[in-house]
Amino acid sequence: MDNEMFSMVLDTLKKIEREKLSLETRLEMDSKGDFPEELIRFMLGPDIGLHLVFIPSQYGGLGASVLQVAKISEEMAKIDMAIATSFLAICLGMDPIRVGGTEEQKEKYIRRIADEGLIVGYGVTEPEAGSNVQALKTKAERVLDEKDQIKGYRINGQKQFITNGGVADLHTILADTPEGPSFFIIENGTEGLLPGKHEDKHGIRASNTAPITLEDVYVPAENLVGCVEGDGLKQANRVFGYTRLMVATFGLAAGMSSLEKVISYAKERIQFGKPLTQKQGYTHKLLVPNAVRLEAARAYIEEIATRIDSGEEDLQVEGSIAKYFATEVGDAMANDGIQALGGYGYIREYEVEKIKRDAKIATIFEG
Ligand SMILES: Cc1cc2nc3c(=O)[nH]c(=O)nc-3n(C[C@H](O)[C@H](O)[C@H](O)COP(=O)(O)OP(=O)(O)OC[C@H]3O[C@@H](n4cnc5c(N)ncnc54)[C@H](O)[C@@H]3O)c2cc1C
Repeated sequence: MDNEMFSMVLDTLKKIEREKLSLETRLEMDSKGDFPEELIRFMLGPDIGLHLVFIPSQYGGLGASVLQVAKISEEMAKIDMAIATSFLAICLGMDPIRVGGTEEQKEKYIRRIADEGLIVGYGVTEPEAGSNVQALKTKAERVLDEKDQIKGYRINGQKQFITNGGVADLHTILADTPEGPSFFIIENGTEGLLPGKHEDKHGIRASNTAPITLEDVYVPAENLVGCVEGDGLKQANRVFGYTRLMVATFGLAAGMSSLEKVISYAKERIQFGKPLTQKQGYTHKLLVPNAVRLEAARAYIEEIATRIDSGEEDLQVEGSIAKYFATEVGDAMANDGIQALGGYGYIREYEVEKIKRDAKIATIFEG
């Protein structure tokens, strides 16, 4: 994506914030905890097409670099992490196809995600398989034709905490085949695919999170990602360097957003005759250590993004380091942000308490 288009995307985000996501709207979305489907569909629609940022150009996307995606992801999460999470899940849901799909699957599904603006869900976690994905119990049994060839799979199991789970048009679901865990592409509305109740959450309350039950879901063999059994964990692992980096940008976004709000508050807030920004006991406890670590997190995220862009592979460890560091410091700054506003920090309309609740998820999901 050239620089002009990159600037246009960033401007578009600012416009969406101004026109559709005022502070009042964000607080209302948070309070109700309802998924803003109309807004997300608008952002995926022909006028905006924000999802195209995450899609390679050969399948109709904008072909952004990882460094550009990281910046856009940070800006989205700074506006509202629930909205950014919904887009992250679309990207995650597409990733097994992007890294492991056959050319035919990529042409068919990635192009559809690009052209139709589909909402996608990534179904890996299960009630008893969280950090330890290998403990998955969802089973995909082969269904044979009259010549004993595999014509499809029958899937049974349970998925937990799936972002976009109740609203997705398309799901990539991890299930255990005779040769091991494998991703399957399943359309919404397929018989036996049953999304559960949208969870009432601590933070990112406007993102849709739902369990999914799979009861005898029949999936044709051509929807097995890569058309080879047993490659699912390899496919999930291949994108960790990239996807964990995106979650790292969420931590950075939460921290920066809180820090900026604290700085403007502390410049105006007079206590003991001076603005709080002039009290070193305040700035050097609540702001400076966090600001330093946030800048270090940004530098590391940018370095890893640049290395991925230059073609380096197997940066899963570096992606995990970026996620760990940036989300911990983001969470710490978000916590200090409440303290820095005193009693006002505890009041919803100042937003720092929402940022703190939203920030916590970044230390939990994506491992
Ligand atoms: C809002 C939300 C959205 C989500 N979206 C998705 C999604 O779209 N798709 C999807 O597949 N999943 C999703 N998840 C699931 C998420 O990725 C898991 O919750 C996460 O991986 C942790 O799994 P768990 O909750 O089962 O915790 P557990 O694995 O039970 O872990 C509990 C705690 O123990 C720690 N722990 C685990 N193992 C070890 C160990 N060996 N040593 C030390 N500590 C350990 C963990 O870090 C954690 O702090 C989502 C979760 C939430 C809450």
